[in-house]
Amino acid sequence: MLALSINRINATFASVRQALGGFEMTSINCFVEGTQSAAALAGHLSEVLDTVEVAVYTKDLSGRYTWANRMALAVTGSALEDVIGKTDFQLLPPDLAKRFGEVDLQIVAQQTERVCIENHVVMADGTHRVFENITKPLRDASGQLIGMVGTAADITVRKRLEEELRRQRLLLNTILDHVDAHIYMRDAEHRFHYVNRTSAALFGKMPDDIIGKCDSELMDAETAERIQSLDREVFRTGEAQCAQDTFVNEDGRTRYFWTVKVPFDQGTNLTPMLIGISTDITELHEAHEKMRILSLTDPLTSLRNRRDFDEQMGRELSRARRLHTPTALLLIDLDHFKSVNDRFGHLVGDQVLVKVAELIHFLTRREDIAGRLGGEEFGVLMPGVDRASAISTAERLRIAAAEAQHVSLEGEPLRVTMSIGVAVCQAGNMTSREFFSQADRALYQAKDAGRNCFKD
Ligand code: GH3
Ligand code: MG
Ligand code: MG
Repeated sequence: MLALSINRINATFASVRQALGGFEMTSINCFVEGTQSAAALAGHLSEVLDTVEVAVYTKDLSGRYTWANRMALAVTGSALEDVIGKTDFQLLPPDLAKRFGEVDLQIVAQQTERVCIENHVVMADGTHRVFENITKPLRDASGQLIGMVGTAADITVRKRLEEELRRQRLLLNTILDHVDAHIYMRDAEHRFHYVNRTSAALFGKMPDDIIGKCDSELMDAETAERIQSLDREVFRTGEAQCAQDTFVNEDGRTRYFWTVKVPFDQGTNLTPMLIGISTDITELHEAHEKMRILSLTDPLTSLRNRRDFDEQMGRELSRARRLHTPTALLLIDLDHFKSVNDRFGHLVGDQVLVKVAELIHFLTRREDIAGRLGGEEFGVLMPGVDRASAISTAERLRIAAAEAQHVSLEGEPLRVTMSIGVAVCQAGNMTSREFFSQADRALYQAKDAGRNCFKD
């Protein structure tokens, strides 16, 4: 009986030492050599172990329990006397007992020094718990294996948090990888710490191939510099920045993006980051561009419309002022066009207008600006052109129009002539209105002079 209790004390000493990270046996010896009896020490240690929030137990070599602390006993809801001498098969559900049996075998037969397993356990009070069981060999003072010591930490909360974290991460990744936006996280050195699939696909890569790289390793220097300058603004101001940007993707297509970058401060000891969200607005941009061009184009002739022509005139005059260069303006009005419509119909009249627009287009330079200013009136703005060149172009146009063969629907040949007013502005020293009026006056003179001619 005494021998048994000393054995238990030894087992308890050893379990305390192994389960709680170990303290020197000498401290226990001092305790024993002092005034306390061995039985008192055993009681003391049992009490200590009962306060620990980890299940601790010992078993002999045949897997019979030799001791268990309060928390271990709570698993089955048994008293210590009902546990000692019993095996797992007598105390636990068969599948759990089988797992523990395999662990014990590993320790005893294979001399394994540490076996760690996770167990889902239904407690005596009906609650479901997850334990992390660590089993180690238990040796006596001479080093002889006398059994096993096991600890089981309740990791239910940790597992629930881990599971919650895993689900949150899955949710976040599913959203981030399927949202129609390029999302990334970069540090101040422009190194990627996160990139979603959509963004990685822009480089023709998978996210893992991009994380850790700088954008200068992934794109041309000019684009990288443009992107980095917005990054720098985010880190400098500590505030969100947004901008429109372009990016030439893997297949050489220019894509347009609307980008928002926000600072992402992860806490004191962690590298400050930014999170970028770039939305591909290429289709929107192209539609907008198409609308813009349409709003500036005459639908019948595809020349510039009056609004765009006026805008270009203002721009060219101020450029001419800056560069001290001349600008010429031709105002063209078709002669007796009303009678063309009256005789051949409006549709034929339209075809004539298109033909005249083509003539103007082919007989002027690439840098000249041609527009349809009204019904059968056209304008040609010629940057850098002096009076002599303007007159020569006007005459070329007049002759080409007069010689052009238009065929009516009835097959009757039809000829159209034009009158042209020429104005030249030196060094942009006129307003658009003055310039226009000067050309208009010249046009009236050409009409007065009998049409099919130019005046300046
Ligand atoms: P003038 O030599 O004095 O310029 O005579 P005109 O008949 O050309 O002059 P007017 O301004 O009196 O008439 C312009 C005509 O141009 C009126 C209209 O029938 C025609 N016109 C204006 N816009 C269009 C158009 O889009 N299509 C067609 N087919 N005709 C148009
Ligand atoms: Mg007219
Ligand atoms: Mg006319």
